[in-house]
Amino acid sequence: MNKCVFLDRDGVLNQEIGTYVYQPENLVIPEDVPQAIQRLKKAGYLLVVVTNQAGIAKGLYTRQEVLQCHQIIQQACGGVLDALYYCPYHPAYDSESLCRKPGSLMLEKATARFGIDLSVSWMIGDRQRDMEAAQRLQVKTVFIRASEEESPPGVWYTANRLSEAADFILSH
Ligand SMILES: [Mg+2]
Repeated sequence: MNKCVFLDRDGVLNQEIGTYVYQPENLVIPEDVPQAIQRLKKAGYLLVVVTNQAGIAKGLYTRQEVLQCHQIIQQACGGVLDALYYCPYHPAYDSESLCRKPGSLMLEKATARFGIDLSVSWMIGDRQRDMEAAQRLQVKTVFIRASEEESPPGVWYTANRLSEAADFILSH
């Protein structure tokens, strides 16, 4: 069985800019991200990105553009991400989906594919719905706080950036 860190994308691996990120020029990866990711990898964690991309359902961008962004993120992280899942659906535009966070289906798919032991795994995200998706599966959570925002209920730890989240997980 494998341990895993599930990662939200926007606001965790790249800067949250308050709107959809699908153009490479809007994809800003904070300086501490690649090293934090590689430290988690060295500690034996699988790294699985789980991201809502309802901009596809809304017709704002294409799957191809999402994949292009994912390629850039993967490259910046030294190719150590094990999988990047995205959910293209939105209930108001096309359909309900259990993969859309706070649904947990993306995490469940990765769990089945990689033989993940959820009891030793973590989720890092910057929204309550990230925390909820993990909590449904009793996965421990680290919340990345955007500003003065309050942490959602039940989170294990609140960090200001990914490197702090990695520090906590690695010292736990
Ligand atoms: Mg986010």
